[in-house]
Formats: sequence, C-alpha cells, structure tokens
Amino acid sequence: MGLPWDVYATPIAARKLARLGIEHGEVVLRPAFYRQLGASYGVVARAVCPLEGHDAPEADCSCGFYAVADDTQLWRLGADEPELAVLDVELAGRVIEHDHGYRASDQHVRSVRFHGACVRCGRRAEVFGQRHFGGLVPACRKCARRALDPVSVSEALGVPVEFTSDDPAPASLSTRFEFVLAQMLAPVLILLVTAAVALASGSGVPLACGQLAIVVWLVTVPSLLGRLGERLGIAGTEAVRLQHRWSPVVAAVAIGCDIVLTVVVIALRDVIAY
Ligand SMILES: [Zn+2]
Ligand SMILES: [Zn+2]
Repeated sequence: MGLPWDVYATPIAARKLARLGIEHGEVVLRPAFYRQLGASYGVVARAVCPLEGHDAPEADCSCGFYAVADDTQLWRLGADEPELAVLDVELAGRVIEHDHGYRASDQHVRSVRFHGACVRCGRRAEVFGQRHFGGLVPACRKCARRALDPVSVSEALGVPVEFTSDDPAPASLSTRFEFVLAQMLAPVLILLVTAAVALASGSGVPLACGQLAIVVWLVTVPSLLGRLGERLGIAGTEAVRLQHRWSPVVAAVAIGCDIVLTVVVIALRDVIAY
C-alpha cells in the first residue's frame, strides 16, 4: 500500500511567507495569514497538530509547516505585502507534496528577507518597529515605534534577517495624490450628479440610484486598484502600502457621500414624489 506522504532524510529547499514578532521577550516567526490555530515558531521547529493527537502532517488534516517550491508561487500568495517576510526554509521528516507546495513535519529556517520599505511612509527601512501584539514590521527611523535594529533581531532569532534593496521608491507626492483622488472622484461625482438630476426632475428616484451607485463603487474599488496603480506607475509593495494607508480615507469619503444622499432623501421625502 502506498503511503500518502514521504519521509525525507535530505532536506527540501522551499520558500514561504511569514511575519516577525516578539513574544515574552523572544523574537519569533508567525504565520503570514492569521489562522485561528496558527502558532508562532522558532528557527528549528517540529509541527504539532493543534486539533488531533496525530503526528503532523496528516493527509486528511491541515496541519504541518506549509511552504512552496519557488518564488512564482509566493507572488500568488501576496508577496508584495510590505509586512511579510520571505523565508528560505529546509523541510524534512514527513513531507506531503501538494499541487502548489508542501506540508512538512520538520522545518529549518535559513534566512528571513523583508521588503526594504517602511510600511508607513515607504522610505527605506532601517529598523523594525513594534506593533500591537508584538508584531515587528520594517520601518524608517522616523516612523518606528520602539525601534529594534536588524542586527539585534538577527541575533535574537539566530538566522540572518535582512531588508532587500530593490524595492520601488515611494511614489511622488503628486502621484500619491492622484492615486487617492482618483478613488474619491467617483463617489463625489455620483453625489453631485444625482443631486443635480433630482433637483432638475423633482424626483427622488435619482437619489436612491445614487446611493446604490456609491455602495457599488465601494465594493468594486479594491479590484480596480491594481490597474489604477499600473496606470500611475505605482507597483509592488508601494501599491500595497498606499492601499493600506489610504483605503480607510477613501471609504470614509464614499460613506460620507452616501450619508449626505440619505439625509437629502429623508429631508425631501415629503417634497418630491417617487
Ligand atoms: Zn492534524
Ligand atoms: Zn517611515
């Protein structure tokens, strides 16, 4: 009978995405994508199944250390995220091979590489800043809270922790302005046009349509950002950073426009006929 997994004595070189954090004074690695049962781990680690008493990984379970064979798979997972590091790992022990990568019982981290851009302002990262819940993220000296230098982080973790140097520079002020303004333009235009049409026609129907259009815009705008960034020459980590930084503001403006329309509809309910 064939077994669903193989035991490898020779380690398999693989890559994965992860986060860096401090827990109880120790530098640890954390899963890139928050899973309810995802635990932090050190440089040399053996997987434990959080659900069942079996050895990890098990074919029918989701436990074990995940990694992919090469960088092309990493891009699929979101390697442009400026808070995530790329880990070079060696997998050994019990390894299950999947379509896009592996699940393994034993993992040895060889190096940790972060994008070299401050997650807040996009300037060159020089240190790690501490976030809530002990998360460590690349930062410039100006933005970093409770800064830790990469050398001491490397020493604490026990493997090289580096920033890459080939990241895009922060977009110019005018480009950033365009990027944000382009997203806000639609809700503001919808507000003005529906108000004008409603006033001219004396009907409340355009107002209701306007409200709906703003909600639709709010839902579709994230999927348009890639193309908008491309058009303005904003790529990779810089595009993701701008999105994180400004999408709450864009959403607030759109919701604000929607509230204005709602108030107008309520105020005019007795005046205009639907
Ligand atoms: Zn399991
Ligand atoms: Zn900064």
